[in-house]
Amino acid sequence: MSAHYTVIGAGLAGATAARLLADSGNNVLVLEKLPHVGGSVYDEKDGSGVLVHRYGPHIFHTSDKEVYSFLRRFTEFNGYTHRVAAMIDGRYVPVPFNKNSIVKAFGSEKGAKMISEAEKLETFPAVSVLTLIGSQSDLLKELGEYVYKNIFLYYTTKQWGKAPSEIDPATTARVPVRFTDDDRYFTDCFQGLPSDGYTEMVKRMLESERITVRLGVEAEVTIRDNRIFVSGRPVEGKLIYTGETDRLFGYRFGRLPYRTLDFEFETLNEDSYQPYATVNYTVSENFTRITEFKKMTLQKTDGVTSIMKEYSREFTGNEGEIPFYPVITDESREIYSEYLALSRNIPGLMLAGRLADYKYYNMDAVVRRVMDVLSADTKGE
Ligand code: UDP
Repeated sequence: MSAHYTVIGAGLAGATAARLLADSGNNVLVLEKLPHVGGSVYDEKDGSGVLVHRYGPHIFHTSDKEVYSFLRRFTEFNGYTHRVAAMIDGRYVPVPFNKNSIVKAFGSEKGAKMISEAEKLETFPAVSVLTLIGSQSDLLKELGEYVYKNIFLYYTTKQWGKAPSEIDPATTARVPVRFTDDDRYFTDCFQGLPSDGYTEMVKRMLESERITVRLGVEAEVTIRDNRIFVSGRPVEGKLIYTGETDRLFGYRFGRLPYRTLDFEFETLNEDSYQPYATVNYTVSENFTRITEFKKMTLQKTDGVTSIMKEYSREFTGNEGEIPFYPVITDESREIYSEYLALSRNIPGLMLAGRLADYKYYNMDAVVRRVMDVLSADTKGE
């Protein structure tokens, strides 16, 4: 039976929700405050015709076959495999730190000893830097401290305003030390960028006679007496909210902390700026990383290239600032769980996405989460 749904936000979460709902025969109204779809995966051609990611580099990767086949309905992927280097004293060092980097830094004999020590660890061959530092082995401690100092300390301090030991350990564990030759940033079986860009992919996801998208609509969602209102009117049917959950509830339990980013774009009249799509500045500079887009989009742009520097800072909620990264701490988890408990009392309200779930999701996890939320709703869970 067809029902009516409202989706707040036309990013990856919102577009996935709208599409899945439309596929099951529902009518969906999508409200987006920005003048474009895509949310933070939005990409567009800049003044020189180079496709750039306006809200930071996005590299799709997944081992979730269902997520991958779903997105493949709307796009091909370009087969790009992400490789990253850290710029350390004028040299490019592959990140994650791998077997080759270990041997380069410590020599083959000591390197081999480190590797055989690491074999005893539970997550071998990928081990987080904090595990290495906390290890009983002097050799692994030494390796951990080296990687901590050269790869993690300064970058993390710029990115989060705190040392690696003070942030959620899951965050630094995203980039483990890898005791293999594998120099890929991600080890998932499917990876790449949508061949025509993310915006195009999201547009196609939203192309359905059952989906109406309204852009540039500042839809104020409010909750009164456990009922949902959109811009003062009671909502018809159910609502999927992909924005910030603290904002939805009028910040009544306090603000959830986020990091925001400032981006500095530059177009250069040269074929190539750097040997990798992304170079992390782990021991110098105020920006965290430089991304050269054509190296990941695989766009041919002779004699021209566009790069972007990222600067991270605390999100204050001021006009024009965008919350990008949830700052996960015991305290922010506690605040979020209060909002979540409230949301569960509201009939017809579903939260999904990086902002609404307050989770450091990769793109595939966003799609997976929306699939799970909608299927739980269908089953009446
Ligand atoms: N990190 C680091 N140095 C690096 C790469 C990552 O310190 O060269 C840390 C940093 O704290 C970062 C986290 O690991 O925020 C996760 O990195 P990832 O590349 O997954 O971040 P994202 O691309 O999501 O910003």
